Amino acid sequence: MRVNDIITGLRAAESIIIGGQAKAAPSTFTVDDPATGQPLAEVADGGTAEAVAAVDAAAGAFAAWAGATPRFRADILRRAYELMVADADRLTALICAENGKSAVDARGEVIYAAEFFRWFGEEAVRTEGEYGLSPSGLARTIVTHRPVGVAALITPWNFPAAMATRKIAPALAAGCTVVLKPAGLTPLTALAIFEILAQAGVPDGVVNLVTTAKPAEVASAWLADDRVKKVSFTGSTGVGRTLLEQASARILNASMELGGNAPFVVTADADIDAAVEGAMVAKFRNGGQACTAANRFYVHSDVADRFIARFGAAIAELRVGPAADQRSQVGPVISARAAETLRALLESTVAAGATVAAQAHAPSTGYFVEPTLLTGVPADAEILRTEIFGPVAPVVVWENEDQLIEWINDTEYGLAAYVYAGRLQDALRIAERTDAGMVGINRGIVSDPSAPFGGTKQSGLGREGARVGLHEFQETQYFSVGD
Ligand code: NAD
Repeated sequence: MRVNDIITGLRAAESIIIGGQAKAAPSTFTVDDPATGQPLAEVADGGTAEAVAAVDAAAGAFAAWAGATPRFRADILRRAYELMVADADRLTALICAENGKSAVDARGEVIYAAEFFRWFGEEAVRTEGEYGLSPSGLARTIVTHRPVGVAALITPWNFPAAMATRKIAPALAAGCTVVLKPAGLTPLTALAIFEILAQAGVPDGVVNLVTTAKPAEVASAWLADDRVKKVSFTGSTGVGRTLLEQASARILNASMELGGNAPFVVTADADIDAAVEGAMVAKFRNGGQACTAANRFYVHSDVADRFIARFGAAIAELRVGPAADQRSQVGPVISARAAETLRALLESTVAAGATVAAQAHAPSTGYFVEPTLLTGVPADAEILRTEIFGPVAPVVVWENEDQLIEWINDTEYGLAAYVYAGRLQDALRIAERTDAGMVGINRGIVSDPSAPFGGTKQSGLGREGARVGLHEFQETQYFSVGD
């Protein structure tokens, strides 16, 4: 099926889903194809009225959904998983069209995204609590977890499917109802996922979608609404900070998955072929547009020449092009502005003394940026402090471990890190000394629905995935029972 037909079938001008009904808005906004800069679709541009109506529906559906049996909710999530996997071709095409990532990356995202429905479907029936006796013996304590209530979910463009399912699945498993605002750059994938949820049997009003080009307006309406009991946000640290400020007015329960600046460490005895393979995944999956993307490479001086030669050769061979070409490994970056910012960062790093050691070829139309390896990067260069969010890999050579640890922790971010080492105990020692929520050890990827995803410092608050991801949508309550 051609992508234009898929998009036509979505009826994007009625992309607001409230109480199970597709709705238009007084105006629309345009979604572009980043590989061409050409428009793909006109999407309903919701505002305060649609935001409030979505909360009306979610609040109305809450009691029944929270009161449904765990098995009922689990079966629906399982069906959503199966339908999503069966629909992988269509979802892959949509992600490729609006986000631009390669078909391999898009398909990988669809499967990863679907896994959240399966994982949290499985968790939904594992209700847990505690029973205990107080030390004085005067009371028995019973601890239980109950759904927090209506949850507002706000997601970014870089994983249009997975960032939505990573929030929707635990919220639904916990018994919450939701209102979701996807990124304005990539609302079509969310719309397709909402179709799947309806087919899976999610009752009307349990999931509600507001597409908009006015994110602050919709988010403010939700954060100010007393019926909304939770905000779960994935996006930049700057926007997260703004939302936390607004959430503080109502002491609103908030989970924040924010920016990253992951170091990728290679020790003197690392397997260099494995390290290069991991580096290619950690840096170039999604064209570097991942919060977990390796942002800075710290390579031990004993192996620096070998690592740089092999990493450079692999980068130079990358096939950069539109996702429509199945051979493309790296797609465009998301926007013209992102491409300009990356080029400016490259230039300023070279002006600061770095060398372009390898570069792949990229098309001259669309928002493409050449995958680039930079060596001789000064340890205080701006690029090492900035979330690059693109296919540029700066390398710094290290010799002393204490100095290495100082460098890798010298950032306000603390999301992911990677260590390649020959001896596990060395990797673990470096990992333990790294301020990051997740460390890939001899692996270039950390995302896993069964593992707690999240960061320290200004990379966020809370965790998604794993058992703890369910607790983010639950309140703990305890009963003190007297004799
Ligand atoms: P962004 O912060 O610009 O946007 C994220 C979401 O917030 C979008 O839905 C956007 O429409 C909305 N938004 C923008 N301005 C807003 C405002 N003033 N009020 C309310 N909502 C607003 O981020 P982005 O560019 O879409 O995504 C890239 C960022 O997301 C990177 O920093 C990346 O590291 C981060 N990210 C983090 C994770 C994680 O799990 N930690 C995962 C993916 C992306």
